[in-house]
Amino acid sequence: MPELPEVEVTRRGIAGPLAGAKVHALRLGKPLRWPLGHDPARLVGLTVGDITRRGKYLWLPLWRGAAEAGGLLLHLGMSGSLAMLGPGTAAAEPGPHDHFDLVTDRGTLRLNDPRRFGAVVWSPSLGDDPAAALLQRLGPEPFDPELTPQRFHATLKARRAPIKAVLLAGDAVVGAGNIYACEALFQAGIHPALRADRISLPRADRLLAAVRQTLGRALALGGSTLRDFTDVHGASGAYQAEAAVYGREGQPCPRCGAAVRRRVMAQRSTYFCGSCQRR
Ligand code: ZN
Repeated sequence: MPELPEVEVTRRGIAGPLAGAKVHALRLGKPLRWPLGHDPARLVGLTVGDITRRGKYLWLPLWRGAAEAGGLLLHLGMSGSLAMLGPGTAAAEPGPHDHFDLVTDRGTLRLNDPRRFGAVVWSPSLGDDPAAALLQRLGPEPFDPELTPQRFHATLKARRAPIKAVLLAGDAVVGAGNIYACEALFQAGIHPALRADRISLPRADRLLAAVRQTLGRALALGGSTLRDFTDVHGASGAYQAEAAVYGREGQPCPRCGAAVRRRVMAQRSTYFCGSCQRR
């Protein structure tokens, strides 16, 4: 599923083309995870502002003149991708998995989502519900300078679950989805089953650095394409090809040569090296 790097890659692909675009129409296909919660006709004539990201949500503010009139909160769910169709191709008919089109004078933003766990929800602002309610439980952003090793460690200290599950839960830091959690734990030399509250400050410091390094590298490579993620130009991400342990069960650990192991934890495949990653 698209994780934080893929959502950020998407944001970077649509923010430029859509900034200042005027909405001509909003077309909806089959129901997504939640209803839009607004009359699409009332968005016509609004102007798209600066698109931002929080966790795996994108916020697309819409302006009426000089005042923010509200906005759309987008989530790619399990299988969603956004594409920008140039103004010339705006007439292209939506396919069976295209469930949202924002038609503007700069082209059409289209959500393709075969599994329909994605969402496009209207909110009066980021600080009001439903956006506020959806975002309030998210942990800190990985690159937020206020997320210090001490603060990260303090969150881990309060959790007795395996560190892998805590990373996936996203309350200590958002963005370490399955592939990135596996890779960061490998880099930091931490066993995925280790209880979070048993991790020392120096190891928490190494883990946070590894999460940042892993996500930064994924961003530089356009994210990961495990099944069907593509960026707004239809290109696949390349990160998964250089993963050290993820998807490499039975292959040699790049550090010590032992076979990479796989275990299901928190319902997700976890890949790790039993000799490099310590409890
Ligand atoms: Zn190893």
